[in-house]
Amino acid sequence: MKKTPRFLFALFLAKIALITQRILKMNASYFPGKLAITLCPDFLGRIDKPETIIGVTGTNGKTTCCNLIIDALTDLGYDVLNNRFGSNINAGVASSLISGSTLFGKAKKEIAVFEIDERSSVRIYPYVKPTFLLCTNLFRDSIRRNAHSEYILDIISKYVPETTKLVLNADDLVSSRIAPGNERVYFGIERMETDLPESINIVNDMRLCPVCNSELKYDFVRYHHIGRAHCPNCSFSSPKPDYLAKADFENLTLTMTRGLESTQFKLINDSIFNAYNLTAVVALLEQFGIEAKKLSDILSNQKIVETRFSEEKIGDIEVISNMAKGQNPIACSCVFDYVKRAEGTKEVILLLDDVHDNAASSENICWIYDADFEFLGDESIKRIIIGGVRAIDYKVRLEIAGVDESKIICIDKESDTPDAVRWDADKIYVLHELYRNDEALAVRDEIKRRLRERTGGNA
Ligand SMILES: [Zn+2]
Repeated sequence: MKKTPRFLFALFLAKIALITQRILKMNASYFPGKLAITLCPDFLGRIDKPETIIGVTGTNGKTTCCNLIIDALTDLGYDVLNNRFGSNINAGVASSLISGSTLFGKAKKEIAVFEIDERSSVRIYPYVKPTFLLCTNLFRDSIRRNAHSEYILDIISKYVPETTKLVLNADDLVSSRIAPGNERVYFGIERMETDLPESINIVNDMRLCPVCNSELKYDFVRYHHIGRAHCPNCSFSSPKPDYLAKADFENLTLTMTRGLESTQFKLINDSIFNAYNLTAVVALLEQFGIEAKKLSDILSNQKIVETRFSEEKIGDIEVISNMAKGQNPIACSCVFDYVKRAEGTKEVILLLDDVHDNAASSENICWIYDADFEFLGDESIKRIIIGGVRAIDYKVRLEIAGVDESKIICIDKESDTPDAVRWDADKIYVLHELYRNDEALAVRDEIKRRLRERTGGNA
């Protein structure tokens, strides 16, 4: 597309906005792009893009995967344009391209890694055509924003450019069906001891064969619709992974096999999501042209951003914070399952509200009936302390899940939740919502402070 005077004018003003916001130490990752698109609606089509674009999309894990890809490429000496500190919708991608271009709209870098919101496919892919697109998985997310995983599958399939090579999750029968005409590779994780014969989650969005509507037969289920299945009535089945990983949670290793070659990676914890993220990133980077062997050291030194997961042992008690994402029943269920499976006794603090008061609440709470609160009924969990304006809603949900009422404590203000901790379990979990990170981490730090005080400040 040509660089019209209108485009150049939009770019010029967006550049001024970007510089001004930076001088004022404001986050310049949204507004400049928003301004440019408002002034020139097809701005994204007219600005030059880096030669190679890596896109990362999917319901869960895209931010972590993006960070891993950017860090690995940077370590290998690439200069990467990215939107990691910004928005993942069209205005965010535009802001990133504006910061990475000259005054005349020429791209200054050769590679870009963009996290792309699934719903923004419509507004991004007509203009920004990824060379590679990694889709981590597709699940139910916020109903208000995302409707249903099949709806998101259709949007991505419709808009992803035909030239884009896809890197897809073979164990996910929803996202592995994106744009069947496109060139693709699949990654997957070998069957594990903890896999089940059928789904025990409330939500499983792949019960029926998408070809003939017969009931699918699962070879194994890992969680929700993640696993491997085939149709007893037609030839439909889970695709065969090109990259097959074997996760060993006891020794915290992940062995990736492609063809005859195997490479070992270190896992940072025993969470299946991080095993999937690592597997996806290795597959993507190999497709980009970096041998798995070269990635082993680099990716083994990865760190999860502390705001998403942290653990620290003080005296005899371990304090763990874990982002659970409210409105996202799958992310919550998986975190609840992880807590249930962990060894030892636990106190759990739930901070899932995304607002300070009920009036501003972003949406209704039907999603909590899709989330497996049942996992929190495990006898290893001695107490569940719920903070926030929706505390009673969660309490009702927990009681329906069969959790003993005497174990549930509701607290209006999140910051008061540490008062209800009794310090009688091996672990204290703070499970929190993405949009209230600061408050949740303040709660976690307050718990740590009190714990240090109790242990005499020696730990
Ligand atoms: Zn079938």
